[in-house]
Amino acid sequence: MLTIGVDVGGTSIRAGVVDFRGDMIDLTRTGTPTGEAALDDAIVGVITELTGRHKITAIGLAVAGFVAEDRRTVRFAPHLAWRQALVGDRIANRIGLPVVLEHDANAAALAEHRFGAARGAQVAVMIALGTGIGGALLLDGKIFRGAYGVAPELGHLRLVPGGRACSCGKSGCWERYCSGTALAATAIELLASHPGSSTLLVREAAADSRAITGRRVAAAARDGDPIACQAMAELSRWLGEGLALVADVYDPEIVVIGGGLSESAPLYLDDAREHYASAITGARHRPLARIRTAQLGDDSAIVGAATQAAETVSPIRQMARIGLKGYAARRRSS
Ligand SMILES: [Zn+2]
Repeated sequence: MLTIGVDVGGTSIRAGVVDFRGDMIDLTRTGTPTGEAALDDAIVGVITELTGRHKITAIGLAVAGFVAEDRRTVRFAPHLAWRQALVGDRIANRIGLPVVLEHDANAAALAEHRFGAARGAQVAVMIALGTGIGGALLLDGKIFRGAYGVAPELGHLRLVPGGRACSCGKSGCWERYCSGTALAATAIELLASHPGSSTLLVREAAADSRAITGRRVAAAARDGDPIACQAMAELSRWLGEGLALVADVYDPEIVVIGGGLSESAPLYLDDAREHYASAITGARHRPLARIRTAQLGDDSAIVGAATQAAETVSPIRQMARIGLKGYAARRRSS
């Protein structure tokens, strides 16, 4: 059985055909238009291109926004034209196939659980470090969405009362201290308080402060730049502190770190594990979650949305997964 996963992002729409092993066997893409009708047309366009080449049974859309509990409506997506939009029904009516919607972080987490770093885990937390923090939670292999479909907003947990302002309207949110954007903000703060230090980053910031991005700071840290290394150490600390908070609530067996910043994990993950172990309640008296990096990369939202679609139209496939998971749990305990 083949399904299509569509990753509807703020700048591009990527659609892939995915098989039962989680392998993507075909891919197409287009730019994201600004108007609502044009956005629907663009999505129908990429799906129609793929259904012309493959026999498809269902479609999953991964959306960066609030998906309602009916899984057919997008309540709000900050970078897309949809507002309280019945996207699932509209697309389904036009292409004649079932369509299921999923938050993009949830889709990525599902893909990692079925085919990647969190395979077989009973309780797993996914943290995607990019512009902000995308968080997802899997309980007994199922995505936890809360009562109204918006849980868990992990990136906006307040870690620093009175801290940096956040676009959500609060201040001191976790993602203001632990994300690609945060890494750049920390480096710029450090540069301002250490104006005499002669580093590559200082010279670049003097020429153009917009040159200081999270990606640039990570590259400078790899080269041993002291300011960049200090910014990375701050990120490690906040990652560990935040994960300890999350683990005190959910007690996960695995935490998967994804997003663009996961590529730089060797620069911060060991330190973050130490901060995590020292900040969590009763660290020496409980098993600690394994903290690993994601395995599926940029394709995870496509694979996850396609898998969600397959499991929605085929309960047998979902039961088969639960059976495998139970088998893995028995092997672990024996
Ligand atoms: Zn916030």
